[in-house]
Amino acid sequence: MDPPAAVAAVAVAVAGSGRKYVVLRRSTLGTNASYGEFADLKVMPHHQRTAKTLSRVILAALLVFVTSPTLPADTTLPIFDTHIHYNRDDWAPFSPQAVITLLQRAGVTRALVSSTPDDGTLMLYRHDTQRIIPVLRPYRTPADRVDWFRSADVLAYMQKRLARNIYRGIGELHLTDASHTDTAQIARLVEDAVNHELVLHVHSDAEPIRKLFTIRPQVKILWAHAGMSAGPSLVGELLDSHPRLWTEVSLRTGDIAPNGRLDAEWRALFLRHPERFMVGTDTWATFIWPEYVDIVEEHRDWLRQLPKDVALKIAHDNAARLFIR
Ligand SMILES: [Zn+2]
Repeated sequence: MDPPAAVAAVAVAVAGSGRKYVVLRRSTLGTNASYGEFADLKVMPHHQRTAKTLSRVILAALLVFVTSPTLPADTTLPIFDTHIHYNRDDWAPFSPQAVITLLQRAGVTRALVSSTPDDGTLMLYRHDTQRIIPVLRPYRTPADRVDWFRSADVLAYMQKRLARNIYRGIGELHLTDASHTDTAQIARLVEDAVNHELVLHVHSDAEPIRKLFTIRPQVKILWAHAGMSAGPSLVGELLDSHPRLWTEVSLRTGDIAPNGRLDAEWRALFLRHPERFMVGTDTWATFIWPEYVDIVEEHRDWLRQLPKDVALKIAHDNAARLFIR
């Protein structure tokens, strides 16, 4: 048995123990690992071999984890889209059933939806209570976006809606300045989020995110668009500092995979924090809907360039763990 074959055999043995990320084909083993240690397996007495093999099973499991294969090009990854709006302007051109059909065609098995007004979310939810995960948006009309964070009316409206008990989060909400987190309404909102286990879906720069965690470190935040303009080092710094921060990368495909090729720094960050990233499309305007299936496919293109286990987490599993009860 030549050394790579030995590794493959050990890997198959580990696969038999039920680990789902194990490589089964020799051809998928990485080229950056050293197989030299495995060369002496065949000349040892059986009992020594057993002990050595055991320690090598562990080593091989680690090795295989590091060199987990990518997905074949024709794989349709299940997608949990964490950034959908079904706003008032969308309702006439795209019926709730038309939207659900688009999600099905795109292979989107779950979707986090928030809308201006919230009734759009409720319409989609009624059509497909399995696929649609409702998130309560503070904005009754687009005008609320300007000063919702200091409006007692908006807070009262939200608390009334939250009593429906169907929501898994609050957002997508905008905080364009860190000082906007200093209001009594935001303090109450963060308190409600913690008490009702709701995730805040926040569109902001890094500073408002840091300030929200100073109000209540227990709050869970999904950072929209990974800060929209934040680079991988800043996103990584925030994820390192805040264990209850997740981020979704809607509208960031141009940064993450310019010309379709996964950027090396983003790739390194995905591998460093594989549990904390999610994907999303952001249907912020009606003209996005006809492009929806293609936008989802663009996400799959760069996800396929990641190790399979990481791709599955970012495409679907991280969001499922956070939002499905
Ligand atoms: Zn949005």
